[in-house]
Amino acid sequence: MPMGKAGRRYAQAAPGDTARNPIQPTPPRGLRRQFPTKLFSAQTLVHYSLHFLFPAVLALVFFPLMWQTAYLIMLATMLMDLDHLLAKPIFDPLRCSIGYHPLHSFYAVPIYALLLLLPATQIVAVGLLFHLFTDTVDCLWNFSHCQECYLSSRIYALRNWVRKLLGREGVE
Ligand SMILES: [Zn+2]
Repeated sequence: MPMGKAGRRYAQAAPGDTARNPIQPTPPRGLRRQFPTKLFSAQTLVHYSLHFLFPAVLALVFFPLMWQTAYLIMLATMLMDLDHLLAKPIFDPLRCSIGYHPLHSFYAVPIYALLLLLPATQIVAVGLLFHLFTDTVDCLWNFSHCQECYLSSRIYALRNWVRKLLGREGVE
């Protein structure tokens, strides 16, 4: 459809006209104006279920004798999202937090893994690592419909770094 006048006329069309003009002007994929995300999208539901419900399952499976305490400690590890306050803008729905914020960085992973080995910090470590997993799922979900998000992510940068390290110079 030619843009310009026709597009403007389409924009002003009455709701009833939609049936006669089924071709919607779709915005290019991956553009930020596609957002804000729907509050109850499948992605949002999965994300917050993983953040709030799944730790209860982990607590019951790994720390059955004190699962309520374990659950609360794991919920408390959500405080690691406070590192977002250092970023500008603080909230960007398409930015992948993994590798970007200090407590979500790749350097933090081995530290959390070490905490997993110490009995005193085990619950905290499970919470922190599972938080990173949850955020990774969310990133991959975003990447699936936003190539720009993937290309600007630290996960992509890490992938390129690993490829270089392995001697595969042909980085696309
Ligand atoms: Zn996070």
